[in-house]
Amino acid sequence: MRLRQIASVILVLLPLAAHAAGGGAASVDDARLRNANDEPQNWLTHGRDYAEQRYSPLEQVDEKNIGRLVRVWSYETGLKRGHEATPIVVDGVMYATGSWSVVFALDAKTGKELWRFDPEVPKAVGAKACCDVVNRGVAVYDGKVYFGTLDGRLIALDAETGRPAWEVVTVDQSKAYTITGAPRIVKGKVIIGNGGAEFGVRGYVSAYDAENGTLVWRTYTVPGNPADGFESEALERAAQTWSGGEWWKIGGGGTVWDSMAFDPELDLLYVGTGNGSPWSRVHRSPGGGDNLYLSSILALDPDTGELAWHFQTTPGDNWDFTATQHMILADLEIGGKKRKVLMQAPKNGYFWVVDRETGEFISAEPYVEVTWSDGVDPKTGRPHETGTADYGKAIAVVKPTAFGGHNWQPMSFNPETGLVYIPAQEIVGAYRFNPKEMLTSEHFNTQTDLAVFATLVREVVAGHLLAWDPVEQKEAWRHPYAMPWNGGTLTTAGNLVFQGTADGRFLALDATNGRKLWEFHTGSGVIAAPITYSIDGVQYVTIVAGWGGAFALVGGDAASQGGAPSKGVVHTFALSDLAITPAVLEEMLAGRDEKLAEEEDLYHRWCARCHGVTAISGGAVADLRHSAPDMKKSFVDIVQKGMPGVGMPAFGEILTKEQIEKIQSYIEGRPS
Ligand code: CA
Repeated sequence: MRLRQIASVILVLLPLAAHAAGGGAASVDDARLRNANDEPQNWLTHGRDYAEQRYSPLEQVDEKNIGRLVRVWSYETGLKRGHEATPIVVDGVMYATGSWSVVFALDAKTGKELWRFDPEVPKAVGAKACCDVVNRGVAVYDGKVYFGTLDGRLIALDAETGRPAWEVVTVDQSKAYTITGAPRIVKGKVIIGNGGAEFGVRGYVSAYDAENGTLVWRTYTVPGNPADGFESEALERAAQTWSGGEWWKIGGGGTVWDSMAFDPELDLLYVGTGNGSPWSRVHRSPGGGDNLYLSSILALDPDTGELAWHFQTTPGDNWDFTATQHMILADLEIGGKKRKVLMQAPKNGYFWVVDRETGEFISAEPYVEVTWSDGVDPKTGRPHETGTADYGKAIAVVKPTAFGGHNWQPMSFNPETGLVYIPAQEIVGAYRFNPKEMLTSEHFNTQTDLAVFATLVREVVAGHLLAWDPVEQKEAWRHPYAMPWNGGTLTTAGNLVFQGTADGRFLALDATNGRKLWEFHTGSGVIAAPITYSIDGVQYVTIVAGWGGAFALVGGDAASQGGAPSKGVVHTFALSDLAITPAVLEEMLAGRDEKLAEEEDLYHRWCARCHGVTAISGGAVADLRHSAPDMKKSFVDIVQKGMPGVGMPAFGEILTKEQIEKIQSYIEGRPS
């Protein structure tokens, strides 16, 4: 018995040791990616594994001890606007992105910055980004870190140093293409899509050789001008479903701007496609038709990009009902049979379960209130339109809307509870036909009537965390929120679901019954999804906070954070008694750079007692980061002489001019 125990310990430790000995940073290969689920200590790919379940087998933090979860470190990105990244963790190093496609590598145990890379996206490109200057994260493989930039580049960095290894432009930069999604690595290739269908582009997904950036294949999702011939038979078939219009002049849409998954056994890569460009099908395809492959789940051969099957969730999309939302692969027992399924809760409000081998429809039910459709065909799954959402003649008030019953914020699936945790939302929208728009790709071409929306938005917006039973196709429980546009979810073997909220909290709930167990105030709305990993026997939970995205831009006072500017912060938590040890504190202090350490120590010795640790005022006295320019100019003088009228002592006898300047340098270096 004892021998068997020892043998199993060795078996468990061997793969870890092999990785540690595998040399350089981020030594991730195909085998590790395929078996990512067997490395609970890491978070190797966007959805943790190729099935994108966002379920962690780690169980040190559970529903009983969650009260001891505390923040152990934070990292301020120094960037404003939306932060949507899912960090990747490989062997103790965290790789994440902020807004404007900035990438950083951190020591995952202490939060110390190892390197930072700014691709210097021209700020003018921000105008092409419908939904904020966001980025959802990196992919890591074979010693490199891969990410897309808002201006359409794909960049590979050396994981050790953060220096560029190669860079390619993946789009026609004269058009409205942007990249916000995270790349995935499949069989030595970097898979990357793009966005831009709000402004008129033709969607596609590309595969580049991870080693050198050579384009291996590119698959368009909608047909181009039939007069030019078709790139594939699949596109020739698709063209039969477009009729009477000149969609190719505007682009057609169908961009692959976020979700992907991969099944190594079936050797199929799944991508979700977006809305039509323009939104209005009357403009795109006046003769009707389904307009393949808009708003569809596509299964592709990862070696060639060839289409294996498709499943269209919104035929003839008219409302920006993208199917780019998160897809989860799982094996479920349905009707007494084990089924290999793909699950998606796209914007249109239906929760879909399809056979991921064949694309065959299994089931669908509305997971939020749906008014544009009153059900799906029980055999094919094709949604039946009610007609009330057709805005050709009059304003149509529609649920859900272009914001979706669920948007890009990742959901998660817990095999133990059998539930999918969806960041669901209720936002009512209005569409009004505008015959003058849409005829060029130069203008914002949506049919959402924001003036009408403005009168509705304060009344009918809310969100909830929805626990959904995908086998029974019904709600198990929900946790309501006052605001929509809440963050993605993470679920763990500790019977927990984690989610950040639009109103600036980070929550943990009981995965079985939805009871709220724990909450932390982040100081900013959260839209990204949390991750978990472990180092030296301690489980960590990380969330990237930073309010932004489409709803934050458009939502007016329904989205307001009370005037506080959005600020990107990576927050990492662990159980207090395990993580806050003297040894860890020593390690954190020792990890600082010399100049910063000297300045920081001076500040904390002489100033922090009144002006707050890390130069953040608790509110009782002035926040030195926000001093008026003339105060900054006479900083040394003020500190030397003091301000007796407000109780500020004179430090002229205690501190040298040089020391005071160091304190000022520290304060000015702090993100405000
Ligand atoms: Ca869209």
